[in-house]
Amino acid sequence: MTLAPNSLEARDVAYYFHPATNARRHEQVGPLVLESGRGVFVKDDQGKEYIEGLAGLWSVAVGFGEPRLVEAAARQMAKLPYYHSFAGKSHPQAIALAERLVKLAGGRVAKAQFTSSGSEANDFVVKLVWYYNNALGRPKKKTIVSREKGYHGVSVASGSLTGLPAFHRDFDLPIANVRHLTAPHYWRSALPGETEDDFSERLMQEFEALIRNEGADTIAAFIAEPVMGAGGVVPPPAGYWPRMQALCRKHDILLIADEVITGFGRTGALFASHKYGIAPDVLVVSKALTSSYFPLSAVLISDALYQAVADNSAKIGTFAHGFTASGHPVGAAVAMENLDIIEERDLVAHVRALEPHFQRRLSEFAGHPLIGEARGVGLIGALEFVADKPTKAAFDQPGVFGARLAELCQDEGLIIRAIGETIAFCPPLIITAAEIDELFARFGRALKRM
Ligand code: PLP
Repeated sequence: MTLAPNSLEARDVAYYFHPATNARRHEQVGPLVLESGRGVFVKDDQGKEYIEGLAGLWSVAVGFGEPRLVEAAARQMAKLPYYHSFAGKSHPQAIALAERLVKLAGGRVAKAQFTSSGSEANDFVVKLVWYYNNALGRPKKKTIVSREKGYHGVSVASGSLTGLPAFHRDFDLPIANVRHLTAPHYWRSALPGETEDDFSERLMQEFEALIRNEGADTIAAFIAEPVMGAGGVVPPPAGYWPRMQALCRKHDILLIADEVITGFGRTGALFASHKYGIAPDVLVVSKALTSSYFPLSAVLISDALYQAVADNSAKIGTFAHGFTASGHPVGAAVAMENLDIIEERDLVAHVRALEPHFQRRLSEFAGHPLIGEARGVGLIGALEFVADKPTKAAFDQPGVFGARLAELCQDEGLIIRAIGETIAFCPPLIITAAEIDELFARFGRALKRM
């Protein structure tokens, strides 16, 4: 494809090195340049409109072009555009947001600290877990257990927790002290005749065997998304969470719920932890916290964790961790307004009300000869394509089918995400039933062209 000289597309290729992109292919095909957005729609620089079927990156909960978030940011910019939280400094917005998040999360959560991205949050969590165990005089208890297909970010530590091979390969990851358990994907990994409950029991036993082999005195924490997202949208099998939580409690292993995608309504509960009966020691949120209008994440921790860390900070003289932008007042103000909108419009109940429609429209594709599984919960779902349905065999050339389908969707005016041959859907929470129909109509047209 030839890009018009000096066009945005040509300048992008000339100067912009994109994250999570095949750089050489990008040089040939160029970018899709988005210029504006309203509700569930975004518009490119040619004026073409798309339904944003993934809410950006699983994140724009209240939709694009929400004036209240713009005004909240502008008000805060005018009043106090920046302040930090080091050495005891604070500001009203960070205080209000910390209090609100702690109260909303409930369970074991007692304190909040802020970061700017999911990766940064999980990187901080790794350091926090290590610091905590050193504070308690347990220097061997450092291993963090994660899962294959889990996604926790891309920094050195969080990228190590991520259980997707492409995020490790040639980056010299994962670091030591990280283990990955089998992904809880029943359709893909259950043995013949195994019920969901049996499958969950087997996965719990796998974790138990790891603890037995390596010693509970070396296993510090278990981190997991309550519903896997970027690894292919995998809701947990029946009986999974009660078993994994009980095992963590038995061996004094911290339970870390990464709710970067699931937080603030995505699954039809405010937090997926509430839905699945998890009371995590650490709860990580980002994305829908500000609907991604501002980069912000939060690490919510239990009182037990806080007390040990607080004692150690007194011993050392400081808790020597934090970022220039920790608790940024503009981000905190946007988050407060965004949470007001989620509450006022009762978007969590809206997700619950639309869930049957969304999941039904998704599962209507399950009869397609190449769709192995339609799955999802709340307003998140996926269709997994296979070369051969009875054996679930994958395509010979991984990623080609998914990428082509994503391209055709784009042509039909729909942005979704292809994760290999799994197509993920995660629209803004404000989507209506009619817009869901339009989303799947566009997808159906693209699929017919394959
Ligand atoms: N954790 C989960 C569950 C995520 O889905 C993501 C991003 O998709 C991250 C962490 C990383 O967040 P970020 O891209 O903001 O670093």
